[in-house]
Amino acid sequence: MTINIEKLNLSSSLKYRSMFIAGGIIHCCFLLCFVFLRLMPLVYVNIGSVLLYIIGAVFSVDKKGMMRYGWIIAFYVEIMFHAVLCTLLLGNNVGFHLYSLVIIPMSIYVLFFSCRLEKFLITFLTFVVGSAAMVAGSFVVLGKTQSLPYYPLSYDETERLRMMNLVFVAIMLAVFSLLFAVEIYILVQHLNDSNRRLEYTATHDELTGLYNRRSIKPLFEKLEASGEPYCIALGDIDDFKKVNDTHGHDAGDLVLKTVSSLIMDGIQWDDIACRWGGEEILVILRGSYDDCYARMQAIHEHIRAEKVCYTDRQIGVTMTFGFSDGRSEKGSDALISAVDKKLYHGKKNGKDQIVK
Ligand code: GH3
Ligand code: MG
Ligand code: MG
Repeated sequence: MTINIEKLNLSSSLKYRSMFIAGGIIHCCFLLCFVFLRLMPLVYVNIGSVLLYIIGAVFSVDKKGMMRYGWIIAFYVEIMFHAVLCTLLLGNNVGFHLYSLVIIPMSIYVLFFSCRLEKFLITFLTFVVGSAAMVAGSFVVLGKTQSLPYYPLSYDETERLRMMNLVFVAIMLAVFSLLFAVEIYILVQHLNDSNRRLEYTATHDELTGLYNRRSIKPLFEKLEASGEPYCIALGDIDDFKKVNDTHGHDAGDLVLKTVSSLIMDGIQWDDIACRWGGEEILVILRGSYDDCYARMQAIHEHIRAEKVCYTDRQIGVTMTFGFSDGRSEKGSDALISAVDKKLYHGKKNGKDQIVK
């Protein structure tokens, strides 16, 4: 079985509700133990704790799914009250004071994701110092008070309870470490996603989805440095202004999008198409001169054959291209300027053609 963590959406409400439910289950286990040992005051305390966790699971989540700060404090007070009370009544050998250790990862986890930094730091320090003082205090009181522990347990009972507490504490520490790992993983995934989106928006044209002019230079330089054969074609939609004037700007946009996707369909996966200007598209094709020219011819014919459907109208489009071998000029600027001149000649000589 594989778990896709990306799809694991750790929503705040689910997260905090699960913590309350887990706390309730742990206190149910204590409750059973104390019923079995007939330690009635601790049975009542644990009934109270279970109720607190049930109420917490139902009411701790507000409309935005965030746990309220007050509930975090209630959580803390309950854990410490229970740890200190059990230590005083049963002695420190049973290990109830160890639950104060869980306060550290738990409070970092819930506070860090729920509070501002200053509030987090102050509350966290208060929790940790408070827990240490309470545990130390209960040990001192135990040592100095003859009547404590109030319910001394037999050796076997102490061992069993201690084992149970050690297992619970270990599970809780492991769960919080796992939660941190999952939380970090999800954050990194979100960060990577937004970086990918940002990079795409920075390098691509919004309307056509082609590369934008800014992003083409480094791609060009890489290709020039590789020494591979390549060709470039600069195309311009014929009489595009007329399309806008006759059918409207939205129709013009649709024509641009359609032409762009026809070009994308006609090039190879490692060729590059870029929106060079308004209705000008630059294509960089890898391969021999003849292969590249054949590809451009097919694209040119597909564009001519296509009728763009806009509302109830069908708009015919043609395009004029200048075409050059990538090695015919030194440097991308000279190459583009040469191919631009060919495009200009094509426009002068009747349009709808590829000028070699
Ligand atoms: P030619 O055949 O000589 O290229 O003529 P043309 O009408 O295509 O060229 P011209 O340069 O006169 O007009 C280009 C028009 O393209 C003008 C401009 O408003 C339009 N245009 C530029 N970018 C966009 C766009 O993103 N969407 C739309 N709808 N029109 C655009
Ligand atoms: Mg034009
Ligand atoms: Mg133009």
